[in-house]
Amino acid sequence: MSDIIQLLPDHVANQIAAGEVVQRPASVVKELMENAIDANATEIKLIIKDAGKTLVQVIDNGKGMSVTDARLSFERHATSKIRAAEDLFQLNTKGFRGEALASIAAIAHVELKTKQDEDDLGTAIVIEGSEVKSQEVVVTPTGTSVAVKHLFFNIPARRNFLKSDTVELRHISDEFHRVALAHPNIAFSFYHNGSDLFNVPQENYRQRVVHIFGTKTNEKLVPVEEETEVLKISGFVGKPNFSKKTKSEQFFFVNQRFIKSPYLNHAIKSAFEGLLKDGYHPSYFLNLTVDPKSIDINIHPTKTEIKFDDEHTLYAILRSAVKHSLGQFNIAPVLDFEHQSSLNTPYEYKDKNASIPAIEVDCVVLIHFLKMLIERKKRRGRIQDLNRHLRHLGESMYVGLESKGNNSQSDFSQVTFESESKEESIFNDSAIETYEKTTFQLQHKYIVSTLKSGMLIIDQNRAHQRILYESFLKHITVKEATSQQLLFPLQLHFTPNGTKIIDDLKSDLEHTGFAFSELNDKEIMITGVPVQECQKVKCL
Ligand code: ADP
Ligand code: MG
Repeated sequence: MSDIIQLLPDHVANQIAAGEVVQRPASVVKELMENAIDANATEIKLIIKDAGKTLVQVIDNGKGMSVTDARLSFERHATSKIRAAEDLFQLNTKGFRGEALASIAAIAHVELKTKQDEDDLGTAIVIEGSEVKSQEVVVTPTGTSVAVKHLFFNIPARRNFLKSDTVELRHISDEFHRVALAHPNIAFSFYHNGSDLFNVPQENYRQRVVHIFGTKTNEKLVPVEEETEVLKISGFVGKPNFSKKTKSEQFFFVNQRFIKSPYLNHAIKSAFEGLLKDGYHPSYFLNLTVDPKSIDINIHPTKTEIKFDDEHTLYAILRSAVKHSLGQFNIAPVLDFEHQSSLNTPYEYKDKNASIPAIEVDCVVLIHFLKMLIERKKRRGRIQDLNRHLRHLGESMYVGLESKGNNSQSDFSQVTFESESKEESIFNDSAIETYEKTTFQLQHKYIVSTLKSGMLIIDQNRAHQRILYESFLKHITVKEATSQQLLFPLQLHFTPNGTKIIDDLKSDLEHTGFAFSELNDKEIMITGVPVQECQKVKCL
């Protein structure tokens, strides 16, 4: 049989490599921005059209390329960043594979313009699907501009696989934030479909974090600084009471490269042990500086995972540095009751399956409640009967509520039921019968009351949320809400992602009775609220 193996043509090999390097427009953003940083740019501009599907352009004021380099940069495995295999273990640049531009040019239309400072004129190259269409001399400022148009034009399956503009834009913003966070000494701007989404000057790290995540972030940052022989840590963790239900504010940068590391994340989580509520995640923005020789970046095509020589030591140092900071800045657990509960308003219950609530019984509260009931009964002259119950209850309190039914005298429900008299019932026919005024409020948060068969504990805030939720849902569906104009409009601050989400929900919110206008990418002006809400507008 004749030989059947042959070398793949370059453009095919490039397309295959592109499959790994370029998953979506956000991957192009990452590669181009990293190239700009490696070129020592101090200003980087990102221009996007249609969430990157039509255009991703990065313009930098870096060192630019010579005529020959400009042409060579699109060849596979062509890089100025390493020369020998040993260099892989002392990388000081983001790139090193020499694959990005070749891959991108294989699956898009690319226009590159570049000029070095010492040259008067620059070079412009147009490449479409690995094919060089033109190369000519142009007048262009020092630095490089790469415009990537019609991504995946020759791979329809990949193009169709792209998500909605909102989703793709969110991926781009995430990439942009990661790069911008890792390099506060570089000024960045970001434009989408002609509007300015983001603009930050050169600044310090705290300012950069605050610029990206909103002014409110400032008060929640706790500095973390540590320097040992193997590791330098600098950055911030968020105070525990600002922890989030999502992991959207967790950033590790190793030698200014964003990485994902479940292991190091665990180190932080364990430093926060006992300070976070279940299901909440700490925020952190941490820069780790290690000897480039002690890490291997070349284990993942997008370089978001790296391998450390001595992960255990890093774990221990990181954990203790974070613990130390939390201790030093007097971050003690904040009692849930003091937490301003109006701030955490999760309306996501709509799509959740119902789960059986875990009941934790606070014996002190329970005893207090029982004593109160008993006091009332005493007054009605049934002292002996109730004393007997109290004695038994005292004994069975710690056995748990499950004992119900086995021993009728230790059954909590028996106390209220047996001792109530029918005439006192307010709603005789109701399934929830309230007998006498045994309703009281605990910690300004819970309403405790009695039922025919036991007790009722209502989380006021949750109940209020539910009522609002039901009413909003009705208004969204039947579209009959009325809005009350506010005398003093409210200005609310969000992250650019936050305003994007609000924008997506705009029509639903308007149907519930809210009226608002977007001031810019971080601020929203509320001019009207649903009528039933106008008295409670403070809770916004
Ligand atoms: P890598 O970054 O891994 O070297 P790329 O394909 O991303 O590979 O880029 C190839 C080469 O093109 C780089 O090594 C660099 O020399 C040059 N280059 C790419 N982008 C720029 C830029 N914005 N400014 C200057 N040189 C660049
Ligand atoms: Mg690169």
